Amino acid sequence: MFTFIDKILDKATMYRVTLYTLVFILSGAVFLASFGVLHLNPFSLIFSAAFLLFFCSLTNDIFAKVFEVPANDESVYITALILTALITPPSSATDWRYYVLSFWAAVWAMASKFMFAIKKRHIFNPAAFAVALVSLTLGLSATWWIGTPTMLPFVMIGGFLLVRKIGRFDLAGSFLITALVFIIVPAIVSGGNPLSVISRALGNSPLFFFAFIMLTEPLTTPPTKKLRVAYGTAVGFLFVPWVHIGQIYSTPELALLLGNLGSYFVSTKDNLLLKLKKIEVIAADTAEFVFDSPQKLRYKAGQYMEWMLPHENPDNRGIRRYLTISSSPTEDEIRIGIKFCDNGSTFKKKMLSMEPGDAIIASHLVGDFVLPLDTKQKLAFIAGGIGITPFRSMIKYATDAGEKRDIVLLYANKKEENVSYRNIFNEAAAKFGLRTTYLFSDKGENIDKNSIEKNIPDYRERTFYVAGPMAMVITLEKTLKEMGLKDSQIKKDFFPGF
Ligand SMILES: Cc1cc2nc3c(=O)[nH]c(=O)nc-3n(C[C@H](O)[C@H](O)[C@H](O)COP(=O)(O)OP(=O)(O)OC[C@H]3O[C@@H](n4cnc5c(N)ncnc54)[C@H](O)[C@@H]3O)c2cc1C
Repeated sequence: MFTFIDKILDKATMYRVTLYTLVFILSGAVFLASFGVLHLNPFSLIFSAAFLLFFCSLTNDIFAKVFEVPANDESVYITALILTALITPPSSATDWRYYVLSFWAAVWAMASKFMFAIKKRHIFNPAAFAVALVSLTLGLSATWWIGTPTMLPFVMIGGFLLVRKIGRFDLAGSFLITALVFIIVPAIVSGGNPLSVISRALGNSPLFFFAFIMLTEPLTTPPTKKLRVAYGTAVGFLFVPWVHIGQIYSTPELALLLGNLGSYFVSTKDNLLLKLKKIEVIAADTAEFVFDSPQKLRYKAGQYMEWMLPHENPDNRGIRRYLTISSSPTEDEIRIGIKFCDNGSTFKKKMLSMEPGDAIIASHLVGDFVLPLDTKQKLAFIAGGIGITPFRSMIKYATDAGEKRDIVLLYANKKEENVSYRNIFNEAAAKFGLRTTYLFSDKGENIDKNSIEKNIPDYRERTFYVAGPMAMVITLEKTLKEMGLKDSQIKKDFFPGF
């Protein structure tokens, strides 16, 4: 069943899955409210979503014009729907408290993205910022009504799929464990009934909505797994209601804002305007974009960035993509390898129409799909299609840095003409003995148990790095575990979106 779900998740961008998740959760709320299971008026809930969508879009358009920054509609809808889940809908047509609170929250959510942004990168989760600011300026608080037991199934299902899509179980998990331990243990120790303490902690709290939907916002989370776990743990502690500084008691929004601030300081602040030098066609469906970098970008081979390419009438996939830096830090230029499809997105069409000298914005350098520090560790790289880009970067780095690593590469493509970077792998074979096996599905060759056993007989001694489409990565992870490999021996990089 998960293979089927992963195939669907693979087709949509991360922003799209977040949007669908929110629509699913709020539709669930309307459904439950219609049957009186949730104590809200279903029409009032639909009205609240429309009200917040309208004012968020309007404010965002105004700010985008004033700041001359392209508007990203998808992220505006996401923020508006999160606010819908936090602010109780109007109890009547003249519920002025609702109108004031929602309007002010919509304005500040959008304003925060522009006004509290450094080098075009916002620091705070917009929805959390808005509800905190509304409470500070107007004394009106969001109720986080979404944290009711009846909503839990919708939040859990939608949230689980979203976290699976973006691969952030480390973050959500560390947050949930910390928050639950610090909420449940003290309550039980001070005499609370364990069952009711646990059920209250799980059901009567926005814990899961917060963990799955808000905490995981990529632009405000730290770049590596270790830092993400530290971030999840810190925000989990701050989330606990009895935590306070002086008279200021913790609220979910304050916990997230403090966490965002910490995340900002540990994340790279580089926001590069890169000028295109040339485009090279490197395989039947793949082109490499070579950019001059105005300043030396400090990155590790295998990391990726968020690339923004504003263009007229973008399609519903928007103007941003995660793309791996396929060059190595030992090279002067920055390179990205891109796969193109028929009927591709407007983003990719715009990329193909770029001329030398045209600019693209790259920001938010992240990723721990990087070479291990120990150069003696035996490695197996497995790439499906365009999943080869991080390996190009790591292999080129090992070659240039004169490292003698023991690496086996299995590289699967549909056909011979889809192979990229053969020259880089040949060079590495000559320099340090890289062993590459090319597999072609049109010849019935696939990466599976048999091909791994055949081409990597000492597979039990190796650490596997797997990169490619999400469904492929998840299937191979399962296969490798069935072959006796431990979790710690498998590193994954999803390339969703195809
Ligand atoms: C960590 C990470 C690293 C990545 N690194 C790379 C990389 O190095 N190189 C790379 O190429 N990709 C990489 N990706 C994937 C990349 O971010 C895109 O998701 C992917 O390239 C698809 O791009 P696209 O949305 O522009 O669609 P396209 O590649 O143009 O199309 C993909 C499929 O979607 C369909 N499609 C296109 N537009 C739409 C639309 N508007 N609505 C519905 N369907 C549509 C197409 O028909 C096609 O079937 C990476 C992703 C992640 C998360």
